[in-house]
Amino acid sequence: MKVAVDATKCDGYGTCFDVCPSVFRSDEWGYASSIGDGTVPDADQDKARRAISLCAEQAIREL
Ligand code: SF4
Repeated sequence: MKVAVDATKCDGYGTCFDVCPSVFRSDEWGYASSIGDGTVPDADQDKARRAISLCAEQAIREL
């Protein structure tokens, strides 16, 4: 499983990196990006899917 953040949609609420900090991070302005190439460790897939479902801007998609 891989994920990607659409920077044009993210409003920087921070939910994704609060819920799944191994996959998402905040840039210096508080907007999200995926870590590395967006690969989700097997152990964190439930958290990543929760982050996707909670993103108010629907800015995260599963690749
Ligand atoms: S949950 Fe969505 S809107 Fe919030 S920081 Fe993450 S990608 Fe951006």
